[in-house]
Amino acid sequence: MKEDLIMKLKNMQLFLGCLLILILPLKCLAQGEGGPADQKKADDITKWTNKTIMWVGPHEDDETSCMGTLSILKQNGNKIIMIWYTTGNKGSRDLEMTSERLAQIRKTESEKALNEMGISSSTDTFICLGYDDGMLEYVPDLELTEKVCKLIRKYRPDAVFSMDPGDTYTRWLKTDHRASAFITLDAARAAAYHLYFPSHRIYEGLQPFTVTDYFFYSSRETNFDVDITKVSDKKIRARSWYVSQFGPGNLKYIGPDPDQENLNKQLKANAERIAKGEKIYEKFRRVSESLSF
Ligand SMILES: [Zn+2]
Repeated sequence: MKEDLIMKLKNMQLFLGCLLILILPLKCLAQGEGGPADQKKADDITKWTNKTIMWVGPHEDDETSCMGTLSILKQNGNKIIMIWYTTGNKGSRDLEMTSERLAQIRKTESEKALNEMGISSSTDTFICLGYDDGMLEYVPDLELTEKVCKLIRKYRPDAVFSMDPGDTYTRWLKTDHRASAFITLDAARAAAYHLYFPSHRIYEGLQPFTVTDYFFYSSRETNFDVDITKVSDKKIRARSWYVSQFGPGNLKYIGPDPDQENLNKQLKANAERIAKGEKIYEKFRRVSESLSF
């Protein structure tokens, strides 16, 4: 009996040993490609050329989270596609403001800001899907997903910049931001399979396409920093154009020109930071893999 027990224990030791040999390499693989540590070492997008970059977001001002990175990518000869879900036509507390006027103001603000960053509707692609601000969650998901899926199949982006659809952090408090994050990812997933929205291929010749590099902005779990120090001055100038959104202009519209005094103060503060050797970053949760499974 005793020998039996010893034999059993030895067998169990052998079994556990084999299990460890099998598991350890898998664990290493899981922490290897695609893991946060390696994403830090992922290729430097500020060196990219001749790629197609798609930015997707709900409002004309959400691009401010990424415009330094987009500007550097544009300077390096990459193609920029900007897609907004809504016209931003509700985001004002000014009681004199109308939805129609606000939509026009926000379009102009965004264009001027992006121009400041070297991105323009004449050299790049600007698409506004035209939905009402704050109402994105009440539009049928199927309709939104198909529209964005078609754009992904059409432009075939090397990278997609999107609101973070969340990982452990899913407490989005703003309706359009939730919707934009989830719909964009759902659309990218659908784009990879020809049987979703098959009419795209049958009638328009749009082939399936798999997105393999995501840069999630407005994220609480960033793992990838882009050094935008060299365009940080431009970004401060660009942000100053959003008069209806950032600062007192949201309460009482005083545009279209930026507050020059405030702008000068911010430029001076930025120059001082840089002179001290500080770097300015935009931060993303980067996932360099296909999420279409
Ligand atoms: Zn927004």
